[in-house]
Amino acid sequence: MEGRIAVLNAGSSSIKFALYEAGGGDQLFRGKVEGIGVNPRLKISDGHGESVAERSWPAAGFDHEAATHALLETAVELNRRVPVAGIGHRVVHGGTAYVEPVRVDAKVMVDLAALSPLAPLHQPHNLAAIQAIMDAAPQIPQVACFDTAFHRRQPHLAQLYALPREITDAGVRRYGFHGLSYEYVTQRLPDVAPELAKGRVVIAHLGNGASLCAVKEGRSVANTMGFTAVEGLMMGTRSGSLDPGVLIYLMDQYGMDARAIEELLYKRSGLLGVSGVSSDMRALRASDDPAAAEAVALFVYRIVREIGSTAAALGGVDGLIFTAGIGENDAQARAEIAAGCAWLGLELDQAANAAGAGRISGAGSKVSAWVVPTDEERMVARHTSAVLGLET
Ligand code: ADP
Repeated sequence: MEGRIAVLNAGSSSIKFALYEAGGGDQLFRGKVEGIGVNPRLKISDGHGESVAERSWPAAGFDHEAATHALLETAVELNRRVPVAGIGHRVVHGGTAYVEPVRVDAKVMVDLAALSPLAPLHQPHNLAAIQAIMDAAPQIPQVACFDTAFHRRQPHLAQLYALPREITDAGVRRYGFHGLSYEYVTQRLPDVAPELAKGRVVIAHLGNGASLCAVKEGRSVANTMGFTAVEGLMMGTRSGSLDPGVLIYLMDQYGMDARAIEELLYKRSGLLGVSGVSSDMRALRASDDPAAAEAVALFVYRIVREIGSTAAALGGVDGLIFTAGIGENDAQARAEIAAGCAWLGLELDQAANAAGAGRISGAGSKVSAWVVPTDEERMVARHTSAVLGLET
């Protein structure tokens, strides 16, 4: 079957979009609607990075559904000649049942909606985009690709909390996230770092959301994110791991309820909360406020500690891979993290690190270090082609 694959990645305040030739072919367009609820704007560029569409709207009344429609309309205009053979979605949660991508039908929608309480800030947006397309173009097949699926084959213990069994059985367990990013990077290894493809690797996905994944012989064995995407590393606005006693204290002493704690831990903590300046690494690097420097230092410290933990889950580490916005672009953060990993035998090649691509460790380094750009949308496109039988 001929056609093109569209990919939607609906986040809490943005929707990313990409269009590919089916069967893992070229990327034709990529774009996003950002600032939903604040100052919504759309930008789409072609496969060469040239801008082909820009629009903006007033915030009032422009919700996720309106954004999905706007993206679809623009995509249909850009894609005049060729039919869309399928649409793939990044869906944050597949629970324990969805261990691989699935073609969406009415039953799948019901199952995935039942998982919304596990990811209330993301899952409803993901499903709203699928529903909007089901309503507008029911003839186009849609595929849900889960951020949790790559972690479902982790060892049993890696997926448990030390809670009473009935609570675990009710679904309070470690799911792990960023799976599409880790799967993409893992699939790149045979080409970019073949000696690691069968080895023990820690992948550091450091963007607005941040986590580490321990990958052994291509398979996830541990992830710093757990029941939700707030566990583990310090992030742009998320706290990462806390003593659970802090939550009890906040409830007792500040009278905070679930929504107030959610807002604190997801929106007001992390780099933003500690710095009081910004959640954006570039803004922190540009600031001379000592609190900004401390926020970055804490971000690095937490990563170094968790690299120790994930390396232990692997029984040793052969390679460390940096990816996502900070991991791919912030050479200083990579150098600081690597310095904290000197005890592992990691030594950077400073010139290679400054250049920021491929291998960045020195020849004598016991653990190799790499920059491997991630591409979650392409991973979704690959899965979507495979599920719909569109491979060339
Ligand atoms: P998302 O999780 O939203 O996809 P990204 O992977 O795009 O996030 O990462 C966003 C983060 O990457 C921001 O903190 C941003 O400041 C940081 N970043 C992007 N480019 C650079 C750069 N050149 N130097 C330092 N940080 C950067």
